[in-house]
Amino acid sequence: METLLGKHWHHLPTQEIIELLDTDPQKGLDLFEVKRRQEHFGPNQLTPRKGKSPILRFLAQFHNPLIYILLVASVITLVLKDVVDAVVIFAVVLVNAIVGFIQESKAEKAIEALAKVVATETTVIRARKQLRVNATELVPGDIVLVKSGDKVPADIRLIRSRDLQVAEATLTGESVPVMKEAEEILPKETILADRRNMIYASTLVTYGQGEGIVIATGDNTEVGRISQLLSEVKILETPLTRKIARFSEILLYVILSFSAITFIFGVYRGEPIVDMLMAAIALAVGAIPEGLPAAITITLAIGVARMAKRRAIIRKLPAVETIGSTTVICSDKTGTLTQNQMTVKAIVVGDQYYQVSGTGYKPTGEILAQEKRINLAETPALKECLLAGMLCNDSVLLEKAGVYDAQGDPTEVALLVSGLKAGLSSEKIAVEYSRLDSIPFESQHQYMATLHAVTETQKRIAYLKGAGEVIIEKCSTALDSFGNKIALDKPKIFQQINELAAQGLRVLAFARAELSDNINQLRPSDISTGLTFLGLQGMIDPPRPEAITAVKACQNAGICVKMITGDHALTAAAIAKQLGLQRNTESKSQLPPVLTGKEITEYADEQLITAVEQTSVFARVSPEQKLRLVEALQSRHHIVAMTGDGVNDAPALKKADIGIAMGISGTDVAKESADMVLTDDNFASIEAAVEEGRGIFDNIVKFITWTLPTNLGEALVIMAAIFSGTILPVLPIQLLWINMTTASVLGIMLAFELKEPDLMLRPPRNPQAPILTKTLVLRLLTVGFLILLGAFWLFRLELRNGASLAEARTVAVNTVVMVELFYLFNCRSLTRSMVSIGILSNRWLVVGVIAMIILQLLFTYIPIMNRLFGSAPINVISWLRILTVSSIVYIIIEIEKWLRMRSEQKGIRDSNLKTFCQGNG
Ligand code: ATP
Repeated sequence: METLLGKHWHHLPTQEIIELLDTDPQKGLDLFEVKRRQEHFGPNQLTPRKGKSPILRFLAQFHNPLIYILLVASVITLVLKDVVDAVVIFAVVLVNAIVGFIQESKAEKAIEALAKVVATETTVIRARKQLRVNATELVPGDIVLVKSGDKVPADIRLIRSRDLQVAEATLTGESVPVMKEAEEILPKETILADRRNMIYASTLVTYGQGEGIVIATGDNTEVGRISQLLSEVKILETPLTRKIARFSEILLYVILSFSAITFIFGVYRGEPIVDMLMAAIALAVGAIPEGLPAAITITLAIGVARMAKRRAIIRKLPAVETIGSTTVICSDKTGTLTQNQMTVKAIVVGDQYYQVSGTGYKPTGEILAQEKRINLAETPALKECLLAGMLCNDSVLLEKAGVYDAQGDPTEVALLVSGLKAGLSSEKIAVEYSRLDSIPFESQHQYMATLHAVTETQKRIAYLKGAGEVIIEKCSTALDSFGNKIALDKPKIFQQINELAAQGLRVLAFARAELSDNINQLRPSDISTGLTFLGLQGMIDPPRPEAITAVKACQNAGICVKMITGDHALTAAAIAKQLGLQRNTESKSQLPPVLTGKEITEYADEQLITAVEQTSVFARVSPEQKLRLVEALQSRHHIVAMTGDGVNDAPALKKADIGIAMGISGTDVAKESADMVLTDDNFASIEAAVEEGRGIFDNIVKFITWTLPTNLGEALVIMAAIFSGTILPVLPIQLLWINMTTASVLGIMLAFELKEPDLMLRPPRNPQAPILTKTLVLRLLTVGFLILLGAFWLFRLELRNGASLAEARTVAVNTVVMVELFYLFNCRSLTRSMVSIGILSNRWLVVGVIAMIILQLLFTYIPIMNRLFGSAPINVISWLRILTVSSIVYIIIEIEKWLRMRSEQKGIRDSNLKTFCQGNG
């Protein structure tokens, strides 16, 4: 086994490879051998590239213009011989870096953990059985089956292939899928991109099927050799963090200009240069919101973790933010909005309607005609229709102690169950009709076909099942109820399909083709015309109850929910009605209007855009058409979330603002293209993610609303003192203390704030909205000036009452801190009062507040702190004054909030909701 490396696998005949790897394509490896090889080769995964070392990451914390200023300040202070101040400034920088480092590491860990949740599964043959295993368990010699939608789990030499196409962009950079061919033996020097008989780890199967032998795993694969795995979400960067970075930069220049003006003004008035320099630095330090980037990062990371708990895994971080502003969710029907628990309820053969009793996968139930149990021997046409459903089928139903477990497509399981209920036996028919070949179901073709050799007659028969329109087009004759061949009556069959679909049943049509005896492989051209129509089976797939609630919640939140399905228009409409998708349908019995895939193709762009906005149900839509729907919605500035699971959904998932893949039923291709993966395939999880997304954004806004005004207040105190020529009420070093403690002890706790109850009753946020809104500017000025007034007034009052300068300054510092602390409570909700949120509902905030109070007591009463920061103990009366000022600020802001909410008339908000989502009605 050691000699496996460096072999020219594409050049060797398959038999030699089988011998080299000591395997067997029919049986696969036995489990003991697998275990032995797993121990020898290790898991089939790439060793994660070691990130930057912790030391480098810690040093990176200093790479920030704000920190540069502080470091320069520290050096200047040292040169000016004020060692204590210099040390304190440096300590501030250090503490800031440590806090930033810890928060960033935590955030990265939270995101790294997500990568493990979305594991790739693969199909192998081991010990004669076909199994689904985690791709990490593969070993060289394993026989692996791949099909359209799969990510290739290891480097594999093909032994069988059928129309296999693989997108190898990850490896060769070539985005167009390449054809693969198992049969070939290629020259030794063939380059990687041309090795048609090999498929490589990390590439994606876009079409067809293949089977092959694993020749390399983990770091020994080609992708392992060229690079090492980088998990998808690593860098904590989103449009918002970039916006904030730009905003901080502008802010920095503004603040520096103010500092410079203050410095020049002070010196011009004859103040000592050194004092003015320190004041200018203090101003800059006070005004710069150092905690902002860290707070946003940590809020986003907490959000990602909260979403994961609610079964929505974020793959690309910007999605955390964008999902909160979603205006339209386009969701698949089957499995996402419905339970994907199919049960055949009705069968139509010839003119005869049959009912099927029983629910779920348990094959106990009966097939009834006019309420009487049927006898299969007397209904040959029904038998043929059921047989088609069981033979043209890849699903498996297993029974263990009376419990039924199904594997495969639920539509196919339902057909298996209906056959069993009639008394057919899977094992027996598998022997009587041995399968020679198949054409798998693909959404865009909407049918599946299998080729069988009838053991008794040695005749070749193909069975087909699929969407009514597709199957009927291929037929020229039909079976009547007694099994006689008659001419095809298309209008009658379409009528029957409509009758079943209008009840919300998913309808499958069945057909048969008698082929010549020498055919062993099935091609689409063999079954394109002249088939015999066998009948219809209609199955229910009830809506998920939680999806009905979630749809309503989305509509209340101003989000349009649109259902996009490959199913029949009437089936779609009936299910949409049960889901409450179109509330403005005029009469209760009326079904919502449906736009079909055919219309989507025929409509011109403008016509489509209007139609798409006004419709909630889209039927017989092929995955390719989803892209056009996304584009139409985006042209009207909608933020579109789109779900998908198949290979062909990938372009639409990429194009959508939020591409959502299904974790259970989704292909690897869809998952790779998505921004978010649902671990339970459930629509309700999308709604949960929107809610979390909105909550995250709210908390970021809360932090900004808290930090900017308090920073302004601190800067104003210094500026006012210099411009009015009075003594500084707060020393530069004291301002540093305020800044460092409040940002890391108070502000950050807003990241843990719980979601507001009206979160899903507001219209979606406009992602283009500026950071500085009118409300925020007003708040900025109000709080900024209140801090200035409060600190100055109490400072003056203390001095007038005979307090020392140190005592008066301590009062001023405590005033600034306490106003910030009280104001933090104002910021816990942007719209409601703290009483209605519950004072203790955010435990972290309570911890922060207590810590802040302790820190201020230390600052005021501990001698060493008095020496370091120039503070002094103050008496109870002073504290009472401080608390009075802080409470007044709190009350003023609450009144401002109340007035603002009153003026934001509800009527306006309601009309907003309507214009956002016309389809909701
Ligand atoms: P969505 O998941 O997007 O809501 P869907 O799953 O209902 O859509 P498709 O899977 O594309 O849509 O199915 C479209 C049609 O193809 C169905 O209405 C059905 O008639 C037919 N069909 C579905 N599954 C199979 C299958 N396994 N074999 C043959 N035909 C099928």
